[in-house]
Amino acid sequence: MTTPAYDRLLNQLKSLHLIQSVQGLLGWDEQVNLPPKSAGFRAEQMAEMARLAHETASDPELGAALTELESQLDALSADQQVVVREARRDYDRVVRLPAEFVSAKARHSSAAYHAWAQARAERDFASYAPFIERHLELAKQEAELQGWGDRPYDYAIDLHDPGFTAERIATLFAELTAGLVPLVRAIEAKAGNEPSALRGFPVDAQRTFLREVTARLGFDYEHGRIDVALHPFCEGSGLDVRMTTRFHEDEPLDSLFSSIHETGHGLYAQGLSAEHQATALGQYVGMAVHESQSRMWENQVGRSRAFWQFFEPRYRELFAGPLTDISSEQLYREINAVRPTLIRVDSDEVHYNLHIILRFEIEQALFAGDLAVRDLPAAWNDRCEALLGCRPQHDAEGVLQDVHWSGGAFGYFPSYCLGNMIAAQNWDRARQVLPELEADFARGDFTRLLDWTRREIHDLGNRHATLALVERVTGQPLSPQPLLAYLRDRYGEIYL
Ligand code: ZN
Repeated sequence: MTTPAYDRLLNQLKSLHLIQSVQGLLGWDEQVNLPPKSAGFRAEQMAEMARLAHETASDPELGAALTELESQLDALSADQQVVVREARRDYDRVVRLPAEFVSAKARHSSAAYHAWAQARAERDFASYAPFIERHLELAKQEAELQGWGDRPYDYAIDLHDPGFTAERIATLFAELTAGLVPLVRAIEAKAGNEPSALRGFPVDAQRTFLREVTARLGFDYEHGRIDVALHPFCEGSGLDVRMTTRFHEDEPLDSLFSSIHETGHGLYAQGLSAEHQATALGQYVGMAVHESQSRMWENQVGRSRAFWQFFEPRYRELFAGPLTDISSEQLYREINAVRPTLIRVDSDEVHYNLHIILRFEIEQALFAGDLAVRDLPAAWNDRCEALLGCRPQHDAEGVLQDVHWSGGAFGYFPSYCLGNMIAAQNWDRARQVLPELEADFARGDFTRLLDWTRREIHDLGNRHATLALVERVTGQPLSPQPLLAYLRDRYGEIYL
């Protein structure tokens, strides 16, 4: 049953969703197609769209429809109540921020991005430090405006993964660290540190292969595409999903696995209800759940023996030359190579979570006032050495490597690691209820797993917050143990 106020709400949310989808498309186009001298014009287009999006998201009519609906909640269905609840949360977050604050933050982010790029190129942290300091001030001010003044870091986390707190994450990460560090050291002792033997993979054949793989995993190319950009990403919602990748002849696995990763995001986006994409019923839960989808397809599925049992013959057909002297076992080891690196985005699956834990600890200390921005490089290097066993020689391979803080995106890094935990926990559950999954993969059939994720996760939209969803899907509260068990299994079999 619907009411006039509910219809008004839906119309407003639909306008907002359409505007946001155009913003996404402009952003995608900027990274994929934009001619070199058109950046200024694009910036103006984006600023105008941002103004329009803000105007629509903060429209008093929307607020009035929400207030009216909240006075008659009992007359609404459970789903309609979810829509109202989430729309209220978004609306309040928009209207609590004065326009001057929003534009000041946008201006500062733009300046800070350029300062970061230059500081990284020149390995000069000091010139960038004031920009992080200002971002920290703005983040605290924003938390204050939102009514989270006593817990600014929790607010930053909640923006990406509603329901999580720094305390909850710290507990999960401590348990993960305790299990992970000895495992990583044991594998490092056995793995050696040989450079990759995979070289000279023609780009056209790489493109053919990744297209075949991603289509077989279930990505719908009638409602999406993949193009080339500097950094891989996935953008869009169910009816039009844009993914990107990049190619290097001597790093064929980078392109392939980042494409499988983005396909995981794309499958989630395409799995959300098209009919409800303007409301919480057809929207994703949070960054960690999104990341759990991409990570499961990339790692648990894409790096498995069963997956390669099916795809290896075709891979050898396309890359007969460069694979001539590479045995099946060598190829599998390349796919699951463990090589310590200082750079997060180049990290293998075993080390990756330690990179995230390092960033989380630093953010916590910054927000608590236990660490001054000027002391960041030293704190980073010390902690990096303790966790990862290696020390940056300069800040470009240390504290300056990531773009996130230049945009004021604090509280974002934990999502990557939480996503890995959720992926492993979901994967455990999927294998329990669908014991034939690996036999499916060996035949090139991924539909049973995709259907399970559709049913258990995608179809639910944002009806349940992350922690509740994990319990619902797996029957257990979120825990790092399934991730540790998965890493021990996968890499123990190869290296230990
Ligand atoms: Zn991702």
